[in-house]
Amino acid sequence: MTHTVCLLPGDGIGPEVTSAARQVIEASGVAIEWVLLPAGATALEFCGSVLPERTIAAIEGHGIALKGPITTPIGGGHGSVNVQLRKRLNLFAAVRPVRSLPGIKTRFENVELVIIRENTEGLYSGIENEIVEGVVQSLKIATEKACTRIARFAFDYAGSRGRRKITVFHKANILKMSDGLFLRCVRKVGKEYADRVACDELIIDNGCMQLVSDPTRFDVLLLENLYGDILSDLAAGLVGGLGVVPGANIGRTCAVFEAVHGSAPDIARKGIANPLACIMSGVMMLNFMGETVAADRIRNAYDAVLLEHNPEQLTPDIGGKGTTQSFTEAIIRAMQ
Ligand code: ATP
Repeated sequence: MTHTVCLLPGDGIGPEVTSAARQVIEASGVAIEWVLLPAGATALEFCGSVLPERTIAAIEGHGIALKGPITTPIGGGHGSVNVQLRKRLNLFAAVRPVRSLPGIKTRFENVELVIIRENTEGLYSGIENEIVEGVVQSLKIATEKACTRIARFAFDYAGSRGRRKITVFHKANILKMSDGLFLRCVRKVGKEYADRVACDELIIDNGCMQLVSDPTRFDVLLLENLYGDILSDLAAGLVGGLGVVPGANIGRTCAVFEAVHGSAPDIARKGIANPLACIMSGVMMLNFMGETVAADRIRNAYDAVLLEHNPEQLTPDIGGKGTTQSFTEAIIRAMQ
């Protein structure tokens, strides 16, 4: 069977890492017809819009996309393209597995976390205004509907994957209404799953301290939008950095797979971006599509390349002297 998948190369290192993921996925034996779509700064230049309607329509139509990071141009009144995309497609849940990898030495060895981030509201409402000169406000939105939806998603996710505990990070002691509502919804949904999935709560500042002290005691972390964004990068730092953490944005009708990292303009077009996070996002995508054999082949291949730890093959962010392409080719060779 041939799958149709939308491919958004994006900006900065996006074209480099999505090209790597495409090569690896194609070498895994799955038949995919890619629909190339513009978004971001590059799209603005060539199509006059940071998020062309045809990009939205194609993802809605095909239901699945692999996406590179996108730069939101500064000035010109453009809202974040990533936020717009998630809102337009109602991709309400971000899922980001963070695991220790073979051959990448970090302070902790057995990290096996999943971050689940609410993707549509909180401070990402984009509602900001100046009340009087020198005084501004940014609105943090929380709705019972979205808080309940992400809570149910998290418990379903944990329950269906044999994960035993969800820890919700919050600041309900200060943000009594917004985080208070988030917490109440999680508690309410959690009662339905109490026989399968435990749930505990940590105030986020204490949670961060505990996470960096011993990440191995955590299983699934559930957070509202901004906390989820920040904690994703923090957790990436525990396992080798932004080059090795994948992600999925899931909605009821579509799913968009993308690495946690941004467009990394500092290393764009130098050929040294780590493609692994994007390749791993591709593996999540293949599993989502039911192509589990191909997904396992890729995962085994990159685990083997990481374990071998040949500096000539790996990118500099994980201790190598190689390039995006040398890493990609090593993974492809390891599949053969
Ligand atoms: P955004 O706000 O768009 O999420 P960010 O501010 O988190 O972006 P990134 O673009 O993710 O920033 O980059 C942060 C740092 O991590 C940069 O120094 C960048 O070079 C590095 N980095 C990010 N992704 C990769 C990658 N795939 N390979 C190597 N280094 C990376």
